[in-house]
Amino acid sequence: MSLVVLLVEDDRELRGTLRSALEVEGYVVLGAASVAEARALVAHAPAQGRAIDLVLLDLGLPDGDGQELLAPLQALRRERGVPLIVISAREGESGKIRLLDLGADDYLVKPFGVGELLARMRVALRHRGTHVAPPVRRYVQGALEVDLEDHRVALGGRALRLTPTEFRLLACLVRHAGRVVTHRQLLADVWGAEFVGHTHYLRLYMGQLRAKLEADPAEPRLLLTEPGVGYRLAEPGSDDAHEADARAPASS
Ligand code: CA
Repeated sequence: MSLVVLLVEDDRELRGTLRSALEVEGYVVLGAASVAEARALVAHAPAQGRAIDLVLLDLGLPDGDGQELLAPLQALRRERGVPLIVISAREGESGKIRLLDLGADDYLVKPFGVGELLARMRVALRHRGTHVAPPVRRYVQGALEVDLEDHRVALGGRALRLTPTEFRLLACLVRHAGRVVTHRQLLADVWGAEFVGHTHYLRLYMGQLRAKLEADPAEPRLLLTEPGVGYRLAEPGSDDAHEADARAPASS
């Protein structure tokens, strides 16, 4: 199950950058640009089946100070141990200490690298007992190479162009390579929780991906169907992709 991050940040560009980086890592991101939006998400996200697992909180927001959210977030933190990481340009030591005393788990001063943020998030989640496996960034199986960090997909050394939706679908399968991912999980991850019934989206996009990635889209060896359950990407570097060969009668 994907972890849900509440990202409170009014800088549109930074919010977009962080959202993409977090989504590539497999997090589901709920973005808020103000104190009011964040309050609404905190109040309504659980009812929509999206319980928040971690909060990234900017302080300078257009309608107030991010610190105002510490109180509404307190219940989440008490009941479910949700970590909170402050992301702010304010560097004053006393301010940092105060926020940490008020219950923030960590504090990152802007500008920060995405790698550093992801590492701090993993640490904060680990302290709360949520183990986050080191993210899968690269997948190689036969001629197919996928690099989630660089958003690069290549087949036989040649770069492939995927649409953003195709890429998100493939990224979700890469993160679970070798394991079955259910229709529901794929739809929620790629399209959003409100689309879990739209299995025809999956059939359509899986068809497009197979047309681009499989030598013979009618006999897929990478993007495998688990009938009635979901899809599975052949384990990296395994023999899954050659099962069909193994089953073929020997010619000699
Ligand atoms: Ca700000």
